[in-house]
Amino acid sequence: SELMEQGVFASMNQTIDEPVAIELAAKHNVILEVKHRGEGQVQNQAPTEKDIKKQKEKAAEEEERNLEERPPVVCILGHVDHGKTSLLDTIRKANVVKGEAGGITQHIGAYQVTRDNGKITFLDTPGHAAFNKMRARGAQVTDIAILVVAADDGFKPQTDEALKFIKDAGVSLIVAVNKMDVKGANIDQVKTQMQQRDIASEDWGGETITVPVSAIKGDGIDELLEMIQLQAEVLELKANPKAKASGVVIESQLDVGRGPLATVIVQRGTLKVGDAIVCGKEWAKVRAMFDDQGKNLKEAGPATPVRVIGWSGTPDSGSTFKTVKNPREAEAMAEEVADELKKKAATKASEPKEVSVEALFANIAATQAKTLKLVIKSDVYGSAEAVRGMLEGIKSDKVSVEIVANEVGLVTKTDVQRASAAGATILAFNTKLENGVTPQAKHHGVRVESYNIIYELVDAARDMMADLLDPEL
Ligand code: GDP
Repeated sequence: SELMEQGVFASMNQTIDEPVAIELAAKHNVILEVKHRGEGQVQNQAPTEKDIKKQKEKAAEEEERNLEERPPVVCILGHVDHGKTSLLDTIRKANVVKGEAGGITQHIGAYQVTRDNGKITFLDTPGHAAFNKMRARGAQVTDIAILVVAADDGFKPQTDEALKFIKDAGVSLIVAVNKMDVKGANIDQVKTQMQQRDIASEDWGGETITVPVSAIKGDGIDELLEMIQLQAEVLELKANPKAKASGVVIESQLDVGRGPLATVIVQRGTLKVGDAIVCGKEWAKVRAMFDDQGKNLKEAGPATPVRVIGWSGTPDSGSTFKTVKNPREAEAMAEEVADELKKKAATKASEPKEVSVEALFANIAATQAKTLKLVIKSDVYGSAEAVRGMLEGIKSDKVSVEIVANEVGLVTKTDVQRASAAGATILAFNTKLENGVTPQAKHHGVRVESYNIIYELVDAARDMMADLLDPEL
């Protein structure tokens, strides 16, 4: 169960990665002998922190050696009617003319364009929902976001919303000022608005690459693609094509003839026909793969979008997949996840309703002057640090965050006592509650919230802070 909490699904007689084994052994004071072929030396005592570090460094070095450049993954965001779809179509068409004849364009959720000096992958589902869904699941697929702003309309509410998503996700930004062919086009107005939003254009002394385009006439498209590639170079995007493939599901559907289909973007490694992959409660033995031209592929390397056939069911878009040893293992892992999900749903349904959140907040707000106190429990140290980092990154001059405790492990009754004494809320990240914690927390009026996705945890913390400001609401 500890492995599962780390996201490693392995049965009793299965091999696990050495660093994971070492870490677990150390945690339980188990003596682990690690002997590498040819080295001849045997470690006789429980590994020290230094040993663990060394192992991790070694793995990282090997990964580093195999890293190769990969294409950028780009998405297009912006206000409705500002030309996202037209831009995606124009870019795709420009490529098809240059590409091989005879390809039949298929909408699989993403496509790749080939230029003299490399490829670019575009997610072709415009819209914020898709972008956010990916992010909400913790999957960061996009490297560069193109924010489309119509030259005759300027920034609109959805443009600002998109900009916020892009900033929050820490994705590289390029602004495409579209509809430059229209009579009322006013690029200076757009640049002024960019300046007001702290994303001043490069030619106005800022850092944001800004490209005037016309999706309808095709003007500026080449420059836009060039800028994307320049930006990609700066980002030094790399991946290890030699690793076992893993990546993200972009979209999935049920096809009458071919069964469940899912488009995935490989992020690491190379996916091959015949590979067994697992994705949440679904799994697949890759029977065939197609690209956006309907072409049959035997392999797909990093940043390549492919439609995969051979699934047990339709996997959720935005969820991550990874390659495992064989279909049997994939099926077993998927089943395990399905069982977990069922159990979770059942306990959730049977849990009594919690004390009103508003009442709780009113209480906290009255006694603790505008400080959100938190007890955080995470699955592993890496998560604990990431959670702390993100929570401390929330900026507000009216409410502060105080992390009463930030530890690794299950949520225990001691945690509840501590939270109760401090007037804190318990946030559990990727970890579970010890037996009896729920009733005890209820008894003490301590709120315990569990999350598996870091952004959701952070968003919840942000909401809690906002609620502190306005306890009446
Ligand atoms: P979306 O909602 O952002 O995907 O926008 P669309 O791509 O559907 O475009 C909305 C409308 O603007 C359509 O009628 C397009 O034909 C038109 N449009 C898009 N780009 C341009 C452009 O560069 N110039 C002109 N004149 N019209 C454009």
